Amino acid sequence: MTPESILKTTFGFDAFRGRQQAIIETLLHGGDALVLMPTGGGKSLCYQVPALLRRGFGVVVSPLIALMADQVAALRQTGVAAAYLNSSLATAEQRAVEQQMLAGTLDLVYIAPERLMQPRCLDLLGRCQIALFAIDEAHCVSQWGHDFRPEYLQLAALAECFPRIPRIALTATADLSTRREIVERLRLHDAQPFIHSFDRPNICYRVAERSGGRTQLLRFIGGEHASEAGIVYCLSRNKVEQTAAWLCEQGITALPYHAGLDHATRAAHQQRFAREDALVIVATVAFGMGIDKPDVRFVAHLDLPASIEGYYQETGRGGRDGRPADAWMLYGLGDVVQRRRMIEQSESSEARKRVERHKLDAMLAYCEISTCRRAQLLRYFGEQPQAACGHCDTCLTPPATWDATEAARKLLSAVYRTGQRFGAQYLIEHLRGEADERAAKFGHRRLSTFGIGTELSAKQWRSLIRQLVAHGYLDVDLDGYGGLRLGERARPLLRGEQPLHLRRDRTPERPSSQAKPRADIAPKDAALWETLRALRKRLAAEQGVPGYVIFHDTTLLEMVARRPASDAEFLALTGVGERKLEAFGAPFMQAIAAHGTLATDVSSQNKAR
Ligand code: ADP
Ligand code: ZN
Repeated sequence: MTPESILKTTFGFDAFRGRQQAIIETLLHGGDALVLMPTGGGKSLCYQVPALLRRGFGVVVSPLIALMADQVAALRQTGVAAAYLNSSLATAEQRAVEQQMLAGTLDLVYIAPERLMQPRCLDLLGRCQIALFAIDEAHCVSQWGHDFRPEYLQLAALAECFPRIPRIALTATADLSTRREIVERLRLHDAQPFIHSFDRPNICYRVAERSGGRTQLLRFIGGEHASEAGIVYCLSRNKVEQTAAWLCEQGITALPYHAGLDHATRAAHQQRFAREDALVIVATVAFGMGIDKPDVRFVAHLDLPASIEGYYQETGRGGRDGRPADAWMLYGLGDVVQRRRMIEQSESSEARKRVERHKLDAMLAYCEISTCRRAQLLRYFGEQPQAACGHCDTCLTPPATWDATEAARKLLSAVYRTGQRFGAQYLIEHLRGEADERAAKFGHRRLSTFGIGTELSAKQWRSLIRQLVAHGYLDVDLDGYGGLRLGERARPLLRGEQPLHLRRDRTPERPSSQAKPRADIAPKDAALWETLRALRKRLAAEQGVPGYVIFHDTTLLEMVARRPASDAEFLALTGVGERKLEAFGAPFMQAIAAHGTLATDVSSQNKAR
């Protein structure tokens, strides 16, 4: 067997992607590898194929016990002898897996890190033939990251315990410091690095100014992603609960997920998300690592993420199957204030706060950018992308910019003259000359800045304030009531020494409330598509696995387009290997054939009339 033949006969794919083949060759020759690839890039095949080719079984270390069963089920469907060892198994089941390991009848074994490093397990492994170690989600060794798992630090010992067995560490976290930590802590100094581009061309990045929040979300889901799976990220547990409940009231099936829910509820919600086609999960950042559901069609952020790294990882959970997905975010002045406050009021060291401020600034610059968003993201990860991708909101409808020099000077003067202690609302009313009891009380009506800003609407002033705060011209008093002060960069602007151009806000969502037709299914094929989906759902339920474990949407779409009628035609579909042909070829081809006769019947009846 060669890597290519395994790819075709077992996994049903025609060609390797990117550097998969080079990574596989490295392991086959006994070398170590460090793989950085975006989510959906195809990391799993990099260790699955060599595990099948080398003698013995591959040990896959993964922190996500809840997902192991599904991963193993998916492999078994393709005919791979896979098993897992974690605390969810009964003792007898564990013994059975251990027997298979010793007997050498397995291809892949998934093991939780804390279990792997137990003396008993290491001893068992010492008596087995091991093909390789794959350390998935390797960024969990990073003590700076939010996915840190102390158990991962112990994995360094694998280098000594099993010096002759190749190790591969994989992650979708892109930044350089994490990469260095992985090499250091897992002792992968001799590993060959494979750093892929982090571009996710099928994801469309969009950021909208917040105006109403929930209704915007409803319009987005209802209008563009009705009956599709998606993730909605919120900052607080409370907001998660409320948003999920509210979506349900609006007729959208949504479930909450956050670290405050008990373990069983979280596992149940995660399971339903994996199993169902059209479920929305509303979650804090606690949700998502290792979720390998391929058909997540959107990731929405109702609150500003703390960093581009986090944002990119979360949005990357959309569109793993390569089909179009949306990364959609709402953003407003309140987010900037809230995030800044969280940093200043945290217990962290000053050094850490500096890093966090820096990360937040990069995130804000991303939100306020008027050129290509994707290019900005990729530059952040050290790539040199094309200037414009043509597939993000700023590329699709370039935002207008305007000369905000004069307006900014008026605003900064008003901040200064009113004593640098009032919030946005008061300042806007002041500039627009709107009566307020406090204005009279403080004598502000007599100031030269009172009423000098009638040319802009309250909304436009608010947008200007947000951008000035994001760019550091204004600071927010985080200890008090959110009063605005002149920021470090304000002086030259106030003195008229520097012009300022800003983007004009707009509402980029489609105002339509109608569902968007699916671009990839012609209306005449819609019925067959639904039939095949229903068949997949029934088969999946019978076997107790998620639908995508039977076939991905990509494979079903090919069936609709090509209508295979023979084994050879069915085997030619992407994602169909010999095992899946044997297990599912007949029912799917029957459904397609039945649909064909039905369609002909209808058309001949029509002709007869
Ligand atoms: P990752 O772990 O990097 O997020 P996966 O290993 O889950 O990504 O792969 C993402 C998707 O791409 C899966 O649906 C997988 O079947 C598919 N895939 C991976 N490699 C190939 C390939 N060479 N050809 C076609 N599809 C592939
Ligand atoms: Zn773009």
